[in-house]
Amino acid sequence: MTEPIVTFKDIHKSFGEVEVLKGINLDIKPAEKVAIIGPSGSGKTTIIRMLMTLEKPTSGDIIVDGNNLWKMDKNGKLVDANEKHLRSIRGDIGMVFQHFNLFPHMTILENCMTAPIQVKKENKETAKKHSIEMLEKVGLGDKLDNYPNQLSGGQKQRVAMARALVMRPKVMLFDEVTSALDPELVGEVLEVIRDIAKEGEMAMILVTHEMDFALDVADKVLFLDEGVIAEQGTASEVIEHSRNERLQSFLKRFR
Ligand code: ADP
Repeated sequence: MTEPIVTFKDIHKSFGEVEVLKGINLDIKPAEKVAIIGPSGSGKTTIIRMLMTLEKPTSGDIIVDGNNLWKMDKNGKLVDANEKHLRSIRGDIGMVFQHFNLFPHMTILENCMTAPIQVKKENKETAKKHSIEMLEKVGLGDKLDNYPNQLSGGQKQRVAMARALVMRPKVMLFDEVTSALDPELVGEVLEVIRDIAKEGEMAMILVTHEMDFALDVADKVLFLDEGVIAEQGTASEVIEHSRNERLQSFLKRFR
């Protein structure tokens, strides 16, 4: 059996007194596409942020490509993360945010080249070549020297994808990447994600409210509700055939 690229083992997360994740167990295989759906406040973003090591679990293990995100001591107990260790694991994970988070003072091309040069220590020429290839792939080969504020929201989001992809991550995280876009721009962004998904190499985790898109792209869908995975299965099982009442009432809002 293929080893999972991402494993969550009994992950709990509290903010103060409030427990927002109550025992998440999850295995994601290399190249698997997983959509996370669920009501606002159910903990979807917290799961994604933990994978980026932007949040630390209260307890439990997160394992990426065989490495625990949080360093363990000799007895296997979770201790604070070692920055160097985290950086190397973060290099395997790419993320696209709801609000693009591009560097406004850099051109599109520079936005893409920065991480390969600084994190992967690629030389400038190689980083430039790979960045141009990636920007062409997302349909922005003619915008290399433009600045983010000269682009539409959909174009900015495609730059954000190229910037993440150029690092060749093993896992890509997409956190509601279309929810800040005008409706007419959603399609072009989903199209790019579909293309990336079809290439098949990377695992992808997508927090999304686009149910048709999830049906089309996801191998597996998780319904998160009040901090637990309340339902999981193939996209069709979860979105089209589940009898879970809370899931059905959640889905009614999107149909
Ligand atoms: P979702 O993405 O499903 O909308 P989130 O993961 O963003 O849910 O949030 C889950 C719960 O955790 C919410 O009640 C939210 O208010 C709370 N929460 C998230 N981040 C923080 C934080 N940094 N401090 C306190 N509460 C937080």
